[in-house]
Formats: sequence, C-alpha cells, structure tokens
Amino acid sequence: MSHPEHCIFCKIAAGAIPSRKVHEDDELFAFHDIHPWAPVHFMIIPKMHIPSMAQAGPEHAALLGRMLVLAPRLALEQGCAAYPEGGFRIVLNTGAAGGQEVHHLHMHVMGGPRPWLKG
Ligand code: 5GP
Ligand code: ZN
Repeated sequence: MSHPEHCIFCKIAAGAIPSRKVHEDDELFAFHDIHPWAPVHFMIIPKMHIPSMAQAGPEHAALLGRMLVLAPRLALEQGCAAYPEGGFRIVLNTGAAGGQEVHHLHMHVMGGPRPWLKG
C-alpha cells in the first residue's frame, strides 16, 4: 500500500503529475481516467490520502457525501445523458479482491453511449 509521499493520486491532486482535470475544490479533485472504459470516465478523489473505503470512518462521512453529490453534476457536464434514459455508473473498487489498483480512495464515474470497453 503506497504512502502519501509515493501516492500517484496525491501527486495528481497536487498537480505534480499532470491530468485532464474535471473539477477541483478545497477538498476534492476530479480527472479523466487515463484508460477509459466508457465514453465518459472520470474519477473523483479526496485530496486527503485515504487508502480505500476500508479505512473510511464516520469522520469521513461528510467528505464521502460530497463526492457522491458531486458525481451527477460532473457526469452531466461531461456529456452523460440525463436520468432516467441516461445516467452513469459509480464504482468504488476496494482492496485486491475488489479490483483496486491505486490505493488512494477514488470513485469511478462512467457513462455515455454504449457499448463500453468494460463494465
Ligand atoms: P482501480 O483499479 O484502482 O479502481 O482504478 C485505478 C484507475 O486509475 C484505473 O482505471 C487507471 O486507468 C487509472 N490510472 C492509473 N494511473 C493513472 C494516471 O497516472 N493518470 C490517470 N488519469 N489515471 C490513472
Ligand atoms: Zn494518496
């Protein structure tokens, strides 16, 4: 598990590694996935280093709520069609068994016309 100083998503949130930014505020950063599964595929991350949902506690409830509430607005801005015909998928891979490769909590938001590469 990577420590914050070696964490690729901490570096992306800090602008030390370039990314295609979708959104930034004081607590959150959103950017396009480098290998998109769907026509729209971006990630929302907390700027704070939390390794995964397995480390999320009550003290993170507001932060996680902000991530969830931000997703629909950004999905529409990025070209997902509107609910109910349109929509998007939110994925939070957690741990090796959950398919997590980058150990900085991140919410995948995927959408757009099908077929998708995966998902
Ligand atoms: P996980 O499998 O951990 O849920 O997803 C990690 C995601 O991060 C993958 O979809 C992968 O394509 C994406 N990713 C990994 N490294 C980078 C990077 O340097 N830049 C961007 N934009 N995405 C990355
Ligand atoms: Zn990190």
